[in-house]
Amino acid sequence: MADPPQTCPLCNVKILVGCVGGDRVLFSVGPPGTRKSLYAKVCRHIDRPGCINKSGGSQTASPKY
Ligand SMILES: [Zn+2]
Repeated sequence: MADPPQTCPLCNVKILVGCVGGDRVLFSVGPPGTRKSLYAKVCRHIDRPGCINKSGGSQTASPKY
C-alpha cells in the first residue's frame, strides 16, 4: 500500500513514500534523493509552519543564537 506523494509547498519537494529502497524525494532541481538528503539540504533550513518534513526530522538542532 503506497501512500500518495507528499508535496511540501515550502521546500518545493515531492516525497514518494513506499518506493523500493525507501522514500524517494524529488527536488525542484537536481536528481532525486532520500529523506536524509532532503533534511540535510532543504528542510533543515526552513523553520516555518507548513513544512511537511519538519516533523519528520528527528534530529534536534542546537540553537544558533
Ligand atoms: Zn519542507
